[in-house]
Amino acid sequence: MATNKKVTKVSGGDNTPRQTFVPSAGAKAQAGKFRMYGVLLWGLAIVAEVIAMVILFKKNPEIDLSTSMRIILIAILLVDLVLLIAGSWLWKKANRFDPASKKDALRFFFQNQLGVVVAVIAFLPVVILAFIKKEYLVGAIAALFMIGGGLASADRNQPSKEEYAAQSTLVQDLMGQDLVYGTKSGSKYHLYDDCQYLKSDKTTEIFSGTVADLYANNHKIKPEMSSLCSACEKRAAKAKGWTDEQLQEAKEKAINAFQKTIEE
Ligand SMILES: [Zn+2]
Repeated sequence: MATNKKVTKVSGGDNTPRQTFVPSAGAKAQAGKFRMYGVLLWGLAIVAEVIAMVILFKKNPEIDLSTSMRIILIAILLVDLVLLIAGSWLWKKANRFDPASKKDALRFFFQNQLGVVVAVIAFLPVVILAFIKKEYLVGAIAALFMIGGGLASADRNQPSKEEYAAQSTLVQDLMGQDLVYGTKSGSKYHLYDDCQYLKSDKTTEIFSGTVADLYANNHKIKPEMSSLCSACEKRAAKAKGWTDEQLQEAKEKAINAFQKTIEE
């Protein structure tokens, strides 16, 4: 393949950082759709919270709510929680299609952890109001939901444009093109479709695409260098005649190139 040769040449001793990661038009559209639905669910979560607050607001602090009213309140808070987590799940999914750049640290943080902020908005006011109105059980449950919802909404594997670009660069250096393979459940991506680990995977379907495609479609693959299958990596390095040191160098070069763009 002519394209293979051409890109291999670029990796020869090329030190200039490649362009930053740019999502495809399709990925951008997918991200937009997931963000829209995510925000919609978050909005509905806040509506549920407002309903719970209206009930609490009308309550006399000196008179206990009936048991059935308490159950209704807790059910409303549960709906609030489910909507919050579903919204955050969609939001995190969107970020996998269209990740934030680490160049702007504050924006990077908020784009990835926005669900945690929404968790506080969707529960803290009702927690405070419940305690003011002396509905301690409801308040405690709302506080628990806030913590649980916040933890579920946090993104512990934050995707970034730089990470995507660095790994795409390494894959191109090794294979001449950004084409990788994975399964629905596997937490690694592979350079060869006949990799032993792909063969031993229970699923029958193998997905192929760019590194970014695989990240977008499988949330189990962490957006970091170690997600590249080590057997495939060794096999590709051997095919290129690289030593372990040369492989390590290529990895560091890919990481550093994009680290530099962050610091600029
Ligand atoms: Zn592999």
